[in-house]
Amino acid sequence: MRALTVTPGRPGSLEVADVPDPTPAPGELLVEGIALGVCGTDREIARGEYGWPPPGAQRLVLGHESLGRVRQAPDGSGFAVDDLVTGVVRRPDPVPCGACARGEFDMCRNGRYTERGIKELDGYGSQQWCVPTEYVVRVDAALQRVGMLIEPTSVVAKAWEQIDRVGGRSWFEPRTVLVTGAGPIGLLAALIGVQRGLDTHVLDRVTDGPKPKLVRDLGATYHHEDVDAVAMALQPDIVIEATGAAAVVFAVLQQTSAYGVTCLTGVSPAGRHIQVDAGAVNREIVLENDVVIGSVNANLNHYRQAADALARADVGWLEALITRRVRLDDALKAFDDDGSDIKVVIDL
Ligand SMILES: [Zn+2]
Ligand SMILES: [Zn+2]
Repeated sequence: MRALTVTPGRPGSLEVADVPDPTPAPGELLVEGIALGVCGTDREIARGEYGWPPPGAQRLVLGHESLGRVRQAPDGSGFAVDDLVTGVVRRPDPVPCGACARGEFDMCRNGRYTERGIKELDGYGSQQWCVPTEYVVRVDAALQRVGMLIEPTSVVAKAWEQIDRVGGRSWFEPRTVLVTGAGPIGLLAALIGVQRGLDTHVLDRVTDGPKPKLVRDLGATYHHEDVDAVAMALQPDIVIEATGAAAVVFAVLQQTSAYGVTCLTGVSPAGRHIQVDAGAVNREIVLENDVVIGSVNANLNHYRQAADALARADVGWLEALITRRVRLDDALKAFDDDGSDIKVVIDL
C-alpha cells in the first residue's frame, strides 16, 4: 500500500512510498483510510522541526487527523464492517502516570506518552491502518466527507470542557465568547460556542477569503479590527485564543469580563519578544478572579463530544472548512501553505 512517510528531523524527506500492508493484532480494527487532514503540526514535522520515528525505525508514517472505513472488526467489539471511524492520536505513557492511568492521557504528567503520526507511533496517512478498538470513535455516516475534522474538534471540545470546569468553581453563566484566530481550531471553537447558545465573536486579520463568511454563516460576528479595541468593547466572559501570537494573547487576557476565563490553544514560536506591562496583567487577573488555562490534545471522551458536535453541525458548513483536497500521490502539495487555506485534506 501507499503511505505518506517522513524521516523526522530531516527537512525535505517527506514522500509517498510503498510500505507493507498492516495486519491487525487481536483486538484491533483493520481500517481502509479514506482521508487525512493536514495541520500545522504535520507541516512542522515535514520541515524537520518536530516528530519522532517509532523505536528502531527511521521513517514515520505521518498523519493524525484520520477518517476511515472499517474492513475487519473483532467479534463483540461493537464495530462492524463499513462503519466510519476516526482514530485517537495519543496513547498513555508506559509508567503510567496518574493521569494516564485514569484515561486522561491528554493530561500526561511525565511526557512519555506516544502519538500516532507525531511521536514514536506510525500515523494514519496510509491506505490501510490498524487501531485498537479502545482508541477509535465511530463517525456519523453523514460525515463521510468531513469526519477527519473530528480530531481538531476534539482539541476544541477539551478546551470547552476545561473552561466549564474552571468556570464551575463559582457562579458561571457566560454569555459572550471571543475566539481569536479563524483557522480550523478557531472556527470549530466558534461552532461549539454557537451550539451552546453563546454570543460568539471571532477575530482574525483577513478581510476577504472564506473566513468572514464562515463566521457569519454560523450566526457569529466577525471582527478584523485591532484586537485591543475589539476585546475592550466586548469584555468577553470567555476567550479561546487560537493564534498563538503573543501580542494577541496578552491583549485578550487583559480585556475579559470579571471572572473571565481565557483558554490558550495556540503554540507560539519561542524567542519573539514583546513589551508587556506585567504588573498590569497581574493586577487584572487578581482583581477580577480571572483564569488563564493552557489546553492541548484530547482524550477519548473529547473525541466522542467532538463526533457529537459535528453530527449536529451543518455538513455544508463543515465542507467549506476544507478549502483544498489533494490525492495521495500529490500529497506533498498539501504542505504548500500560502496562508489562503483553512484545512487541506489528502484523499487516501
Ligand atoms: Zn492536527
Ligand atoms: Zn502519562
